[in-house]
Amino acid sequence: MAKSLDTLRLSIPNCVVGSQPQPSATEVAKLRARFADYVRKHNLKSTAQRDVIIEQFLRSSGHVSIEDLLAKVRKRAPKVGYATVYRTMKLLTDSGLAAARQFGDGQTRYEVMSDEHAHHDHLICVQCGLILEFENDRIEQLQDEMADRLGGFKLVRHKLELYGLCPKAAGQKNGYCPNESS
Ligand SMILES: [Zn+2]
Ligand SMILES: [Zn+2]
Ligand SMILES: [Zn+2]
Repeated sequence: MAKSLDTLRLSIPNCVVGSQPQPSATEVAKLRARFADYVRKHNLKSTAQRDVIIEQFLRSSGHVSIEDLLAKVRKRAPKVGYATVYRTMKLLTDSGLAAARQFGDGQTRYEVMSDEHAHHDHLICVQCGLILEFENDRIEQLQDEMADRLGGFKLVRHKLELYGLCPKAAGQKNGYCPNESS
């Protein structure tokens, strides 16, 4: 394939583009410690099933649904049920280790939030489901400026989701899908 994520990264100045990498071993260790802290502070009991779920989640990349995660977890712990994964993801979201995303298809997807992988925005292909991540300083700044102009607001967070068609899904001649070329 001619164009890949690397090409995309190079072609847009001052913009970080990519799809989420798997967290490094150091990062996973940090996240695990942060969660242990949270469990202690909130007087929660740790359970074997939850530990397996968290381990699988922290080692995942991209944006995973409960079903995705459940399938992975069941390879290690066949008796884990949907509700347990759901509750665990709620806990991870509350503790700030995971972010829950809705990209318009009715599924909630979760991604690891770490120091290595903090704020970013998303571009979603409405046909093939590709999810690209990006961060652009100018767009970030424009949002701050806009909020300021709308009565002096200071933004505390935002979500920016762009929905479109990748060149292949749009039926362009020789249209590529970045999903297939990386
Ligand atoms: Zn942003
Ligand atoms: Zn993301
Ligand atoms: Zn595509």
